[in-house]
Amino acid sequence: MPILTTQARRIQLQDNLNRTRQALSEACADAGREPGSVRLVAVTKTFPADDAAALVELGQADLGENRDQEAAPKAAELAARGLEPVWHFVGRLQRNKARSVAAYADWVHSIDRAPLADALDRASGDRGRTVNALIQVSLDGDVARGGAPVGEVGSLAERIAAAPYLNLKGVMAVAPLGWEPAKAFALLAECSEAVRRVDSGAAEISAGMSGDFAAAVNAGATMVRLGRNVLGEREPMA
Ligand SMILES: *Cc1c(COP(=O)(O)O)cnc(C)c1O
Repeated sequence: MPILTTQARRIQLQDNLNRTRQALSEACADAGREPGSVRLVAVTKTFPADDAAALVELGQADLGENRDQEAAPKAAELAARGLEPVWHFVGRLQRNKARSVAAYADWVHSIDRAPLADALDRASGDRGRTVNALIQVSLDGDVARGGAPVGEVGSLAERIAAAPYLNLKGVMAVAPLGWEPAKAFALLAECSEAVRRVDSGAAEISAGMSGDFAAAVNAGATMVRLGRNVLGEREPMA
């Protein structure tokens, strides 16, 4: 990425944000949905705290991160500047990171097993907070890439619904490599029904990334997680 002045980067982010919001509105219109019915989470991973701060100042309230070692200092830096975005943790989460994540995350999209749910519940309680919880589903059953098997979504939903410091909100998935996005997100919509049988209010569906968000919106996504569309291409992750 070329080095830009702070002001030039800000203008670029504003442009990207405008274009992304416009594309999201069009996807909603194409799907016959209200433009305000889908929440945009801007995924700032690999980008500096300055970019995250600029987005918040441009009115983008929801930010996503996928690694605690990057997210925790970024959240602290924004807080030190008096900026309090709604932080969404969207990446693979180890149990021993639950304490750290519970300190700043308002939403965790990647709860995929009972011991992790329990650890996050305890950590949130210790921090005097309640975290909004989404169950990440492994749509193709390749759980090594994260997510609970489709058949375990109902029982995990019951576990989270019973956790005092977790607020069961719905489901999340990444479309498996090589799958038609429409097929992936239709399966996720079925998983959402299983969660709503446990708690009818847990209707959030976090689905759709820069390459496939229109298909996700068409299949009922209530949150899209967009990185490259808003921030630009990332350097390869270490
Ligand atoms: C990086 C990431 C995104 C955003 O991906 P883009 O292709 O940059 O839009 C969304 N969800 C998760 C879980 C991610 O790790």
